[in-house]
Amino acid sequence: NYFRNDFRKTLPSLNEGNDFPRRPKNLKRILVTGGAGFLGSHLCELLLGAGHEVICVDNFSTGLRRNIAQLKRFDTFRVIAHDIVEPIDLEVDEIYNLACPASPPHYQADPIQTMRTCVVGSLNLLDLAARRGARIFQASTSEIYGDPQVHPQVESYWGNVNPFGPRSCYDEGKRCAETLFHDFHKVHGVEIKIVRIFNTYGPRMRPDDGRVVSNFIVQALKGEDITIHGDGSQTRSFCFVDDLIDGFVRLMASPSALTGPVNLGNPGEFTISELAEQVIHQTGSRSKIVRRPLPVDDPRQRRPDISLATEALGWRPTVNLSEGLARTIGYFDGLLSGSDRKVME
Ligand code: NAD
Ligand code: UDP
Repeated sequence: NYFRNDFRKTLPSLNEGNDFPRRPKNLKRILVTGGAGFLGSHLCELLLGAGHEVICVDNFSTGLRRNIAQLKRFDTFRVIAHDIVEPIDLEVDEIYNLACPASPPHYQADPIQTMRTCVVGSLNLLDLAARRGARIFQASTSEIYGDPQVHPQVESYWGNVNPFGPRSCYDEGKRCAETLFHDFHKVHGVEIKIVRIFNTYGPRMRPDDGRVVSNFIVQALKGEDITIHGDGSQTRSFCFVDDLIDGFVRLMASPSALTGPVNLGNPGEFTISELAEQVIHQTGSRSKIVRRPLPVDDPRQRRPDISLATEALGWRPTVNLSEGLARTIGYFDGLLSGSDRKVME
């Protein structure tokens, strides 16, 4: 029996949210872990705008308070500074588990904590979902496919992942999390939703995030060299954040039989050199391109097959690369013209 080790006995429930105003029955109380991060802050904003109560749990390792500062205007928003590696009990209807550093330099800075977040953190949240009867959503990743030998990537492809390279803490951590989600579904009947996210960009990425789109834009705006890793012929498919978050909410609301994994991403595929040229063109920058060594195990190619998302969710991205870049450039332009303090809070 799952409840043999009943957490309710050992884990005092937090009262967070109990002072929310009474909500209509069609609205939910939703936990977003990693809610102060890039994707999480957009998700919190969308859910609050739809009238839901949102509890954001974040350890602020890569997330920023400034990302959620404007959400304080909602009296249905709460923030708890907490690491998901420690258990937590909250009265919630739905859980979106986004907590995990996503940028290679960030997740590689403390690989053991990254793995712990993926595995122990997921276990804690699955326990919570089982205890509260909450539906739970996992932010998985295209990194599940590693350096893929099947192109474009379909959900049925098992991937090509190095178990102990520099990216493994993240790739294998996220793979293990998918296993845990499926086993909680099978063993305890927990309602799960797994999304495999392909490279997503947009406003509220940190200027020092380290991922390619924010790096190139910040470098271009500052007139610094644009750092292409390797010969720049490796490909990625870039999805604008608003499209992705729309897909999250559709998947969460889908019939319970659709557990996922479901790929979400923009199938438009570009080489990293093409991205650099596009950013230089759109910023009007005079930055020059320099080459840096290609990181170990850097995937050669990546593009999602989104047939499942299109058929099951009626979802497809609507923002193309040049429009998404224009909006992201506008964001960084505003940010970089402010003070450094404002940037990093
Ligand atoms: P991000 O680094 O901006 O956000 C991650 C958030 O999680 C941050 O607020 C961070 O402080 C928080 N966090 C990290 N470890 C935590 C822990 N142990 N306990 C509590 N909070 C913790 O990254 P993002 O791009 O917003 O990514 C969000 C999620 O989506 C991640 O799970 C990531 O793996 C996944 N994802 C993102 C992309 C993408 O392109 N953005 C692609 C694939 C998967
Ligand atoms: N990349 C690059 N310059 C940078 C940052 C990244 O050329 O300043 C490359 C990176 O090596 C990879 C691609 O861009 O080939 C996408 O990298 P990112 O870290 O954004 O995402 P991921 O590798 O996780 O897909």
